[in-house]
Amino acid sequence: MPRQPQLTSRLQRFGTTIFTEMSALSLRHDAVNLGQGFPDFDAPAALTEAAQRAIGEGRNQYAPGNGIPSLRRAVAGHAARHHGLDYDPDTEVTVTTGATEAIFCTLNALCDIGDEVVLIEPFYDVHRVATSMAGAVARGVPLRAAEDGGWRLDEDDLRAATSRATRVIVINAPMNPLGKTFSLDELGAVVRVAEEVDAVILSDEVYEHLVFDGAHRSVCHVTGGMDRTVRISSAAKTFSVTGWKVGWACAPPAITDALRAAKQWTTFTSGTPFQHAVADALGWDGSYFEPMAADYLRRRDLLCEALDDIGFGVTVPDGTFFVACDIRPLGFDDDLDLCRRMPAEIGVGAIPTQVFHEDPSAHHGLVRFAFCKTDEALAEGIERLRSGLPGMARPDDR
Ligand code: GLN
Repeated sequence: MPRQPQLTSRLQRFGTTIFTEMSALSLRHDAVNLGQGFPDFDAPAALTEAAQRAIGEGRNQYAPGNGIPSLRRAVAGHAARHHGLDYDPDTEVTVTTGATEAIFCTLNALCDIGDEVVLIEPFYDVHRVATSMAGAVARGVPLRAAEDGGWRLDEDDLRAATSRATRVIVINAPMNPLGKTFSLDELGAVVRVAEEVDAVILSDEVYEHLVFDGAHRSVCHVTGGMDRTVRISSAAKTFSVTGWKVGWACAPPAITDALRAAKQWTTFTSGTPFQHAVADALGWDGSYFEPMAADYLRRRDLLCEALDDIGFGVTVPDGTFFVACDIRPLGFDDDLDLCRRMPAEIGVGAIPTQVFHEDPSAHHGLVRFAFCKTDEALAEGIERLRSGLPGMARPDDR
């Protein structure tokens, strides 16, 4: 008898991702899936046609490991035009298989066993699991309640989570699952603290084009930020192609060398025809990006107003396509329990946020809804919440 497979301790505690669990529940109960963050509408035709053309033209073999030159140039050009950030496409830009691989490679390239990674909570689960897979130790920094009803990063909290073992500080800006954008003061604090302990900053900016409160802000906009930051993004959210898995990492040459060393041993290279298509799209002008963001703003307002009306405690997000809302005003107390019950009981899928904390027991009560969904799906989801929630059993009833 072969020895039974035994998941390592690095992975065992994480189980199945919450996105898979909740999407499966939605599917099983034919629920409106306002959980997992993928658009339920198609990508721009010009983009899908470009990928089809690339396949037809025979661009089907390995791309260069670091990415095709035209995409690396397009990533650098896009960062310069949209954010005023300058990268050398040859030495500072690496194409990856989605932002996820960029995160994985960065942490695996930079962390030795026992090094520490600081994560702002609620974190995106991949940041947490990639930390453990790299053999590093996670240090969580929960955001605090802000006076305006949102959340704020406290510089002293961040500092207290660091030590001489800190190798990387991770920030997700705009932030999934809260939809928070960070102020330049908060971003300045991240750079200051990183400098104090000489840590690298991993800045996951996949929602860079879904910003509703002015221009996108990055740690790279703060003095000193560019020198120590791996700026990660992808095509998924910007172009509604979450299934293509085209991402990239921009970083100073020494850090780029390190993450390229890891990338060659993970996927080696990333989907060639998709790289060609995204290289085109990144060069599109404002007539794509601005209406796209305006349309998400419209969906945000539609969903937030309805959730508020239904009785959730809504903090209107400044970025991303998510809104995290408080279920306690409605008489519920456990977001995980509610999200596990909703698909079967009222036909709506959502994502609980307690699972995005080192200590989930301290963080009950926030549920994340996605608005990257058609107007029909949003309307149906809202209707089901409105009519179904009042009849759901509350903790006091059970
Ligand atoms: N990023 C997506 C979300 O937050 C999900 C990605 C995934 O399913 N792993 O909903």
